[in-house]
Amino acid sequence: MEKKLEDILKQGLEKITNSKNVEELQNVKKELTGKKSPLSEVLKSLGQMDIETKKNIGKKATDIRNTFNEKVEEREKEIIASKSVLDKPLDITLPGNKIKSGGLHPVTQMCYDLNDAFLSLGFEVFSEDDISSEKYAFDNLNFAKDHPARQMMDTYWIKGTEDKESNERLCLRPHLTGASVRYLLKHGAPARFVYPGRVYRNENVDSGHERAFFQYEALIVDKNISFSSGMVMIKTILEKVFGREVKVRMREGFFPFTEPGYEIDMECLVCNGKGCKVCKHNGWIEVMPGGVIHPNVLKSANLDPEVWTGFYINIGLERLVMMRYGVDDIRLFHSADLRFLEQFK
Ligand SMILES: [Zn+2]
Repeated sequence: MEKKLEDILKQGLEKITNSKNVEELQNVKKELTGKKSPLSEVLKSLGQMDIETKKNIGKKATDIRNTFNEKVEEREKEIIASKSVLDKPLDITLPGNKIKSGGLHPVTQMCYDLNDAFLSLGFEVFSEDDISSEKYAFDNLNFAKDHPARQMMDTYWIKGTEDKESNERLCLRPHLTGASVRYLLKHGAPARFVYPGRVYRNENVDSGHERAFFQYEALIVDKNISFSSGMVMIKTILEKVFGREVKVRMREGFFPFTEPGYEIDMECLVCNGKGCKVCKHNGWIEVMPGGVIHPNVLKSANLDPEVWTGFYINIGLERLVMMRYGVDDIRLFHSADLRFLEQFK
């Protein structure tokens, strides 16, 4: 019987050492210590032995089982440690897996390009929250109390603040201009900064209008800002973005926060001025309202209009992207349609 146990031990250890992987090792373990293993057979037969032999053989058999368990554990660690990531045969002639990469949204790319252009002119990039208040969206900006833009029709007011006033009455910002006073109150003048972001309007959606869209506003406040310095800024920025000279015209425009205000149009690059859906068939597209900052706005920012003056421009980012790529429907930019967006990578 002792010889039999020695054989069981010897063969068992060999099988453990020769196991090549964890699965094989588990099978060997079952074979060596399971209910039908020779070792279990020996233990089962103990009943027929005399007490002295029972003690002796029983102890040896149990020792062997413990040894098997220990060795299996050791071997398992060895196998795992030696396992290579290249488990399968490697064919280095096969082409690699193509990694799918994302890309920036064309509006984001345009925003970054404008940031670069403005940063090179010494501007700072500033941002504020999407939720603003009546005070920053209208009061500070010289909007009359009965201005139609304040009404439900144009602005998304936040539920539960309808009865409140000024800074307590909240809305999704209908334009970015409120950020200009916020910045000036904090940093004072002189200042030159841009503040890109998403704005919200309760509009009917069509190929040229969306309910949420990106704007990009810039403001210079200094002691000697003139209309012509504003024009130089616009020309410089558009030329940097489009990499060529762009035809621009200015018309009179009315905005509560400017005096005087302008509508700045550029020749439609989709149709080169011939007329198309984007430019509503007149060859020009409104890309940015702008103008000289209104004295009342300077006062809201605690600046003396006798000392300081400034020039705003507000760029419709989607409009510029439409011009850059000849896209004729503004809704495509928010469609999250990858077939459309992947073209801009
Ligand atoms: Zn056109």
